[in-house]
Amino acid sequence: MIGVLCDENETEIAEEFFELFKTPWEFFNSSRSYDVILSTSGKIPENSAKLVIVFSSRHIPYDDSKGSKIEPGNSNCSIVTENFKLPVYGRLSYIVGQGLPIFPARANPGTVATIYSEPGRNIIRVGYDLFQEISILLTNGQPVENASIPSIELHIALIRDWIINQGIALIEIPPIPLGYQFFTCLTHDVDFAGIRRHFFDHTMWGFIYRGLVGSLLSFLKKKITRARLMRNWIAVAKLPFVYLRISDDFWEDFDKYTEIDIGNGSTYFLIPYKNQTGASIAGIKQKRRAVRYDIGDIKKQITHLKKMRAEIGLHGIDSWHSTEKGMQELARMVETTGQRETGNRVHWLFYDHQSPSKLEQAGFDYDATLGYNEAIGFKNGTTQVFQPLGVSHLLEIPLNIQDTALFFPGRMALSEAEAQRLCGNLLDTILKYQGVLTLSWHERSLVPERLWGEFYVKLLQELQSNHAWIGSAHQVVNWFRQRRSVIFEEASLSGSKFSLKIKGNDSICEPQHFFRLYPPQSNDMSGDVKERYYYDVPLSCESNIEILLTGDWEAC
Ligand SMILES: [Zn+2]
Repeated sequence: MIGVLCDENETEIAEEFFELFKTPWEFFNSSRSYDVILSTSGKIPENSAKLVIVFSSRHIPYDDSKGSKIEPGNSNCSIVTENFKLPVYGRLSYIVGQGLPIFPARANPGTVATIYSEPGRNIIRVGYDLFQEISILLTNGQPVENASIPSIELHIALIRDWIINQGIALIEIPPIPLGYQFFTCLTHDVDFAGIRRHFFDHTMWGFIYRGLVGSLLSFLKKKITRARLMRNWIAVAKLPFVYLRISDDFWEDFDKYTEIDIGNGSTYFLIPYKNQTGASIAGIKQKRRAVRYDIGDIKKQITHLKKMRAEIGLHGIDSWHSTEKGMQELARMVETTGQRETGNRVHWLFYDHQSPSKLEQAGFDYDATLGYNEAIGFKNGTTQVFQPLGVSHLLEIPLNIQDTALFFPGRMALSEAEAQRLCGNLLDTILKYQGVLTLSWHERSLVPERLWGEFYVKLLQELQSNHAWIGSAHQVVNWFRQRRSVIFEEASLSGSKFSLKIKGNDSICEPQHFFRLYPPQSNDMSGDVKERYYYDVPLSCESNIEILLTGDWEAC
């Protein structure tokens, strides 16, 4: 059990941090004993804890007792080691003095973290403010240049390593189902639903230009094949026949994703009202945000999607800034689809600090907006579904890989080989840190002039072959909601018996949750892990759990 000692204004952030690092913990109580104390208040209580981890960028009285000095570093710097780069967005300080340095600084005599050995316990003193970092990441997110870094997962991994390296047992519920390496969530934003709805407008001219000239330039740069160039030229030549209704509208059959998507279903985000630009954000050309269809125009596709057990979500126009408009958009969705529990992803990913509370008040179950338009990666530094600060029910499922971010001219405009490499890096990260990788492939990306379907199919196969559990946003969010509902009441190790008392696990769902238990293991105090092992135990409806450490473990 970890005892957490923090300031009053950090309690909500601490609670959310320990939903992501799902391990037994409680706010520090001086009458209880702990294996580990995590302090961000600057106080180090006398306790039987074998390890105390102290995060603070400021000088604290304990530094004087060790004869250490605290030297402020610049804000917005990173901790860089052989194994990782961790950006620090708030204050970062260097500790100059005795102790065993964990992250020695290159151009500074100090270290960002150091270990002091005391009789019966070790103290790890860290020169940044953990919960402030988590708060910045969950609210402001990370700049594009750090998109690939799962910062929150790195903070969790550091604490996990420090605890295990001190020979202390640790149990947690990992953010993956038993038997899988990670989740993949499949989503499709439907922005057009037919090219016939676009006659002599910027969308039609854009299609013709990109189909003829853009494709030719891509072919000359060897970004696309001759066959793909020809498909686009033929599609442009056919366009008059589409408008004359002699040929089919190739942007209309977006429900063909139901044949391509593998796994347990996917989510389609649909627009509630046509011809509405919605509220503006400074610096963005708002006029083009209006969409030419609304949910009432595509009932045939909705019937098919429902028959194929796909999930339908709202592609909100104004839900991000107005509770009243969010309620209207949600009501339109419920009335057309008959689906009551609904998530939201805002069109063009509009969002601000008030959005979580507005969306929750409007009645949404989850939001799926937080991602980059111009990059792929982890905007909020986490690979997990999280609860934004200030709300009590709404969960956020971050968006990681968006097709238009990868390929669209003016965004990253990558070749397929470059995109494959970048997605491969993200896959490596998710395999290491676990959690969920959410894809957004737009409804017109399978057909001319984009033709990004082959890439999508290959990406899905790659994710599946790496043991992803694949499903819709609602399914993944529900799984994380169930994990959040589990509360650890007691956790203790006596001899070779680990005992655990939990509650909230009476309605656990598929795919199965599990515990991962790291028994006490002998590692080098400097963090040089010699051998690490763990037990995986399926989570059942039992509230009193006993795990016998038999020696039959999995090596990490
Ligand atoms: Zn959209």
